[in-house]
Amino acid sequence: MSRLPKDLQHTIEFFEKLPGIGPKTAKRLGFYLLRLPQADLEEASKHLSTLKNSTKFCARCFNLTEQEICYICEDRNRDSSTIAVVEDVLALLSLEAGNHYSGVYHVLHGRIDPLNYISPDDINIAPLLSRVKKEGDNLKEIVLATNPDTEGEATAMYIRERLDEVKNGSAFSITRLAYGLPIGADLEYADYMTLKRSFEGRKAF
Ligand SMILES: [Zn+2]
Repeated sequence: MSRLPKDLQHTIEFFEKLPGIGPKTAKRLGFYLLRLPQADLEEASKHLSTLKNSTKFCARCFNLTEQEICYICEDRNRDSSTIAVVEDVLALLSLEAGNHYSGVYHVLHGRIDPLNYISPDDINIAPLLSRVKKEGDNLKEIVLATNPDTEGEATAMYIRERLDEVKNGSAFSITRLAYGLPIGADLEYADYMTLKRSFEGRKAF
């Protein structure tokens, strides 16, 4: 039986725990690290060892941050009267990468998913409602930007109902992202839901 040096073995076992990484890839990554300069490894292990302790949730929007409030909420140039409600930080990053959205966010950190026992209380809906109650008169729009799948739709619908309850005369509108066909898509191969949503979201041309 072949036995690898202990640190290499532990590193490979660590990689195996990561999503989408099988034993073979884990081994390849482990061996690859051996070829990197020592300084790179030290730098990476420094960040890994403090990763969890130094990463917090923004007190306002639940984006990841090292401070009390994240850089988006801190930015005076952002339009704080528009809040995009997203399922997770990855969705926030995608919207940010587009560089076309200048409002702020609210990160749910999940979506309602009864089959996996995730109820409205398990995600950041209550903090959203109290935020809306507090900021209600200054809000113009809340964009429900959850994913266009069954759970994302159900989450958006639930939030819309709760928002209607706390609206209390505030004039903000509640909108949902329009989902269209990806650029370069062929109608023939688009799935039924995408086609339906893009048809419903059609605009004057
Ligand atoms: Zn924030």
